[in-house]
Amino acid sequence: MYSIVNTATIYGIDSKLISVEADISEGMPIFEMVGYLSSEVKEAKERVRSALKNAGYALPIKRITVNLSPASIKKTGAGFDLPIAVAILSAIGIIDCERLSSICICGEIGLDGKIQPINGILSEVCEAKNSGLEIMIVPKANLLEARLVEGIITIGVENITEVIELLNGGNFVQGEEDKVSLDEIPVSSDYDFSMINGQQALRRACEVAISGMHNMLMVGPPGAGKSMIAKCIPSILPSMDSNEQLEISKIYSVCGMFDERHGLMKNRPFRSPHHTVSAQGLVGGGHNPRPGEISLAHRGVLFLDELTEFNKSTIEILRQPMEDKSVCISRALGSFTYPANFVLVAAMNPCSCGYYPDLNRCHCTRLSIQRYLSKISQPLLDRIDICVEAPTLNYKQIVKKSENESSSDIRARVIKCQDIQKARFQNYDFKFNSEIPSNLIEKFCFLNPEENRFMENMYEKYSLTARTYHKVLRVARTIADMEMSENINLIHLQEAMCFRGLDKRYWEDGI
Ligand SMILES: [Zn+2]
Repeated sequence: MYSIVNTATIYGIDSKLISVEADISEGMPIFEMVGYLSSEVKEAKERVRSALKNAGYALPIKRITVNLSPASIKKTGAGFDLPIAVAILSAIGIIDCERLSSICICGEIGLDGKIQPINGILSEVCEAKNSGLEIMIVPKANLLEARLVEGIITIGVENITEVIELLNGGNFVQGEEDKVSLDEIPVSSDYDFSMINGQQALRRACEVAISGMHNMLMVGPPGAGKSMIAKCIPSILPSMDSNEQLEISKIYSVCGMFDERHGLMKNRPFRSPHHTVSAQGLVGGGHNPRPGEISLAHRGVLFLDELTEFNKSTIEILRQPMEDKSVCISRALGSFTYPANFVLVAAMNPCSCGYYPDLNRCHCTRLSIQRYLSKISQPLLDRIDICVEAPTLNYKQIVKKSENESSSDIRARVIKCQDIQKARFQNYDFKFNSEIPSNLIEKFCFLNPEENRFMENMYEKYSLTARTYHKVLRVARTIADMEMSENINLIHLQEAMCFRGLDKRYWEDGI
């Protein structure tokens, strides 16, 4: 006797449909599983056997063969337990369901027959729906998450007996009482720009950076407020459209970090990994590959505080994903591409004591400062559009004089500026000024004769490279957009030049 059941497995951040075939035949009473299985899938055999026995369904004393196809995809995770159990029960005639071919089933089984939740259910329901299946049976604990996908009937189950009754009864109705009641969207940040006194240049740099999604580096002594300002950034990030929301939610779901009580993720992510993070933790990977911090920061901000404290080889790995906006992980299981289109915001001290260029307090030697700065390589700096100094504030500046501008006002301007960019680039595959490719710079960052002369002077005077020249133009485009100016004017170029003065002074000219 033979039966076949649909299920799905995680592949990268997406999912692929898998068929579970079960065959019961005469012969030696053995339970065999084939189909390119990882060790946890092979263990399903023992879980399914015990769960069925404890639920009162003993396996027949016959030869049981289970095949998971296609054989080209390595099967990982415990989500195959339930479909394997259903396939066996169907092959021995305990389950009799005509619509089995239009149902997708996922879930892990405990030895007592209870169905346990699994990671990545969002991607799996999407895949089932896109493949034309009509019904999705998921663990009850995953139901809220599964219900976020519309256009497919989703039913939550708690134990194996319930699954058997459901399939035999054939009454696949999505219960009204199971409707998702979405909680209020949580506040995006506990920090607000109104809490920051002084640091006008830093505030401005943050606004420019987020408006055009430019990478930013803050350099300054400890206590200047770099980390505090960075923590305010989530409060000015615009919300995401529905496609982006689904995309980010899938990544978090695959990592088991998705909070389904609030529905799809509405706020752009802000990730701030500690400097002890491993290369694998940062970019993703592992034996069973999973996304790293850069993918968790996709469409949002990756904040690296104390950049020089990170392992040098770890931060160097960022170069390729920052260029490609995605990261490719190759493992024995196959190669996966995880999205990683994030804005890098980094903060660092100018030297190991932290007080350079204040020579009253800094006693570092030239050599030690150079060695300290060399932890950040030129290719990484090349990918950072905005470099800004965070000076120590004097007493007058830290005392609040008047009400500071709040994040919601800044955010409103950021949204306006990003809307201009979205409209401008609607026929292209990029959305923000920071992403304008070099061959389109002249088209989108056109300069009038006077501005052209200014840039020519700057180019010679500061011996800019072609790459730096393009960075300045992209940032100037953002500043012009912030002022709703069609043309890039002198004042925009001047400000953009200021944002790269620092990396030139510290790194290129030498201390
Ligand atoms: Zn120093």
